[in-house]
Amino acid sequence: MTTWDVCVLGGGPAGSVCALRLARLGHRVVLLERRPFPRPHVGEALSPGVRPLLDVLGLAHALDGSLPSRGVLVRWEDRTTHEEPPDPRAVTVDRGHFDHALLAAARAAGVPVRQPARAGRPRRGPGGWEVPLRHDVLRARFLVDASGRHRVCGGTTTATGPRTLALHTAWPGAGPTRIGTGPQAWCWGAPLPDGTFRAMAFVDPDLLRRHAFDVARLYHHLLDTAGLFADRPRVLDVAVCDATAYRDDAPVTDDCVKVGEAAFTLDPLTSSGVDSALHSAMAAAVTVHTLLSDGDRDAALAFYRDSRDRTVARHTTWTAAHYDRHQPYRDQPFWRRRAAPPPGTRPPDTRAPRPLTPADLHRPVRLSADAAVVPTPCPVGDVVTLRRALTHPSLPAPVAHVADTELAPLLDYLEPARSLADLLRAWSAHLPARQAEETARWLFEQGLLVTA
Ligand SMILES: Cc1cc2nc3c(=O)[nH]c(=O)nc-3n(C[C@H](O)[C@H](O)[C@H](O)COP(=O)(O)OP(=O)(O)OC[C@H]3O[C@@H](n4cnc5c(N)ncnc54)[C@H](O)[C@@H]3O)c2cc1C
Repeated sequence: MTTWDVCVLGGGPAGSVCALRLARLGHRVVLLERRPFPRPHVGEALSPGVRPLLDVLGLAHALDGSLPSRGVLVRWEDRTTHEEPPDPRAVTVDRGHFDHALLAAARAAGVPVRQPARAGRPRRGPGGWEVPLRHDVLRARFLVDASGRHRVCGGTTTATGPRTLALHTAWPGAGPTRIGTGPQAWCWGAPLPDGTFRAMAFVDPDLLRRHAFDVARLYHHLLDTAGLFADRPRVLDVAVCDATAYRDDAPVTDDCVKVGEAAFTLDPLTSSGVDSALHSAMAAAVTVHTLLSDGDRDAALAFYRDSRDRTVARHTTWTAAHYDRHQPYRDQPFWRRRAAPPPGTRPPDTRAPRPLTPADLHRPVRLSADAAVVPTPCPVGDVVTLRRALTHPSLPAPVAHVADTELAPLLDYLEPARSLADLLRAWSAHLPARQAEETARWLFEQGLLVTA
């Protein structure tokens, strides 16, 4: 019986992209998806980061037929409504079509897709993993759990936000995207490419418990309180799904990685679930490739864990601060549970960013006292390896490279009393003058390099 290098459980965006990347890296990958495609899925508003990522992978065609943003009506901070201008990179998609296109791309990259095929809980056997199917057992050295909130591989999770349910439905219609608030919920609605309009209300579970006998009535009441949905029909077929944010407690081991919503979920307020799922799939692919090619195991595991943790922390902080900006119902339990002011962001040695001036060229420069150069696991090409990288509280992640140039060797040229002009001269042995200047400007304007 075949033992696959990798078995991917789930054919959503995370599973398809991870399978495709691993197949392109030369691994024998099989993917199991329990439902026939196209299948409906919520999560249709794609944030601006999705398109560039799909471009890099050669998968931009998955966005064919998507609906570009035409701006958003927002009633959040107070009771007035303002219009945010359209971001042409943000789109809504039909997730049935989008997910189907990504799965077809994985198949075209050489991944056999078994579908519909529901994977049972995998168990460890003598030669690796055994994945039970209805009439069969599949064997693989490595598992990628991409089964979304189903989390076929199990394991414990930690909530990163309060328990939240989404009430949603769609009706034939168009109109602008909108976000409104009420005392017990926030509501989002957007037109979809198929000529329907989906609206959702996000609530505490106890509210639904109290209104379980008439979910449709509660839904319409919540949209009424949000104020921006007066033009809707009284649809009665309202679905409920979990929208709680959590992170898995063990997202990666020597022979299993969880990607996308199997590894973490974000508050839908971020509109970044698909974006983050795709990024986690890319990070998982280099991690698995490193592990299967006997690369640096510790670096690979730490890289995946750290990048997942940074994503969760960044979004959790942003989300709480965004809830905190809401004023009208801030004393209501729904809002109190979610809001937290943003943490103080400016560390002591970081001066307010200012542009580099010609006078700075002749001043001695040094690294900010809050910056450090530390060994950090980084993807280099297609494998994870340790590199010296620059860390600083203002950086979302350690930086090892600027464009294609390794940063740490450039920083080794910093010496007491060395001016910026001297530094640029030293760097010009390694970089074109313009790139040296741009690197220095970026370091300076981020507050990483400071005049002494
Ligand atoms: C209410 C709500 C609103 C959201 N809104 C947005 C939004 O506007 N924008 C956004 O970007 N994100 C949004 N999201 C999040 C987004 O939907 C997810 O981040 C995204 O779908 C994650 O992709 P995935 O591939 O990890 O999981 P999924 O897309 O859920 O794919 C998992 C796949 O695994 C399959 N599967 C499950 N169990 C098994 C099994 N046993 N065997 C085989 N296959 C299996 C499933 O059938 C499914 O196809 C929202 C989420 C919720 C809950």
